[in-house]
Amino acid sequence: MVYCVGLTGGIGSGKTTVAELFSRLGIEVIHADKISRELTQKDKSAYKRILEHYGNRILLDDGELDRSKLREIIFSDPKERDWLEHLLHPLIREVIKQRVAASLSPYCMIEIPLLISKEAYPYINRILLLCAPEELQISRLMQRDQCSKEQAQAILAAQPDIEKRLDSADDIVINNRDIEQLSQKVNDLHYTYLQESKK
Ligand code: ATP
Repeated sequence: MVYCVGLTGGIGSGKTTVAELFSRLGIEVIHADKISRELTQKDKSAYKRILEHYGNRILLDDGELDRSKLREIIFSDPKERDWLEHLLHPLIREVIKQRVAASLSPYCMIEIPLLISKEAYPYINRILLLCAPEELQISRLMQRDQCSKEQAQAILAAQPDIEKRLDSADDIVINNRDIEQLSQKVNDLHYTYLQESKK
């Protein structure tokens, strides 16, 4: 299997931005969230299970899942969040594994927001953790998603424990400067990953 880097970090820490920078360097990036959306499209297997569980109240007029309603339910009830994660995570992991196995990139990157350790992904060689000061995460989220400070704070409060994340990270990028600085850090890491992937 190709050399594999897991990209993770809290909400609004800059994962999508960093993934785009690696992608511009010619690296294949696999996005767990995109796979999750694919698996929950109308009539896909996970969609059917979610519909059985919540009934029609979880649907939009066109029959697709009402994702903001689903988000509201799982952020207000940890049991529901567990239920959904138990359903989706194994399915997402399986698709990721297939895509990594088929990758022809010099190394590949998997963006997994909730990646805490390599345990569930034994083929991941390295974890790259993005961090940003909480106040920057909040202001970037408010600007990007047009949400209130309270909503941004509530989402941040539900994020995995940073200590555990730091323990399992191999590389840590603090995204507290401008995009140019971030881009420079990505270039440096890209060089390291290319070297590592050749070993
Ligand atoms: P999520 O967990 O919600 O998917 P994310 O970790 O992917 O978020 P991004 O979407 O990459 O985070 O970044 C959040 C917002 O902050 C975006 O609007 C992005 O353009 C902006 N941003 C990220 N890094 C920087 C930076 N260094 N300077 C300025 N803006 C930034």
